Amino acid sequence: MQQLIVSLVDAMKQADYILIGAGAGLSAAAGLSFADETLFRQRYPYWASRGRRSEYHMFSFRDWTTEQQWAYMADHIQRVRFETPPLPLYQTLKTILEEKLSEKDYMILTSNVDRQFDRNGFPPEKVFEYQGNYDFLCCTQPCCNQVWPFQPVMEQMIAATNLETAAIPSSLLPHCPYCGAPLRLAFRDYPSYQTEKAAYQQWLETSKQGRLCIIEIGVGFNSPGVIRVPFERITQERDHVTFFRITVDYPDSEEEIAYPEIPKPIADKSYSINADAGYVLREVLNLL
Ligand SMILES: [Zn+2]
Repeated sequence: MQQLIVSLVDAMKQADYILIGAGAGLSAAAGLSFADETLFRQRYPYWASRGRRSEYHMFSFRDWTTEQQWAYMADHIQRVRFETPPLPLYQTLKTILEEKLSEKDYMILTSNVDRQFDRNGFPPEKVFEYQGNYDFLCCTQPCCNQVWPFQPVMEQMIAATNLETAAIPSSLLPHCPYCGAPLRLAFRDYPSYQTEKAAYQQWLETSKQGRLCIIEIGVGFNSPGVIRVPFERITQERDHVTFFRITVDYPDSEEEIAYPEIPKPIADKSYSINADAGYVLREVLNLL
């Protein structure tokens, strides 16, 4: 294991460009887990008593009323986005990139919507939140480009949630002030999303001019098309590249599937580090 981490540090030092891909496993290693079944039972007894086990389990859940869905999402987002403080492991990563390796040009692609990069003070232009974030509502109809901040709506919903039914009152269902259609979480539909996406793609082009170190951290199979598959493809297509996959395997879990393995076509320029991201990042910092 130590030899793998030394190889990672060497590759970062030799690189001109560092591309980080951060998935839910990074926040889990930092202390924000969607798999905590005890927390789920305490916080969502209505759903726990109906066979749901974790917040992971709720991502694919559809068998609820719109009022129940908003009640759950409001509380989930309150927990993830607002109650959870900026997590120290993100500071470790920031120290590595912004201080220890400040001469390197880096970029972060993340599928996380918890805003931990922003809340830990990473420069906004260095982070592309591919899945968007939880901060805005938008219209479900193509009627306007406007978005509305979710936080005040969320607070009203939480205050009015009926714990017996795990639902908000129908009167709080959010509607578009222009056309009256329901609102939804904007995710990728907030104003600067396309600009951020273009900047990320431009960075990828620019990085072809030098040696690239790609570090994938805690990326499983919830949305492999966001980070995992594109990073494997970049590794395959380029010559001056080294790829590191840092993820914990969860052999006993049905919900968390990580597969730390490296596909054969890129095996000669890739390393798999099957270890907790917190341990790996702290070791990297010690070695720099
Ligand atoms: Zn509308």
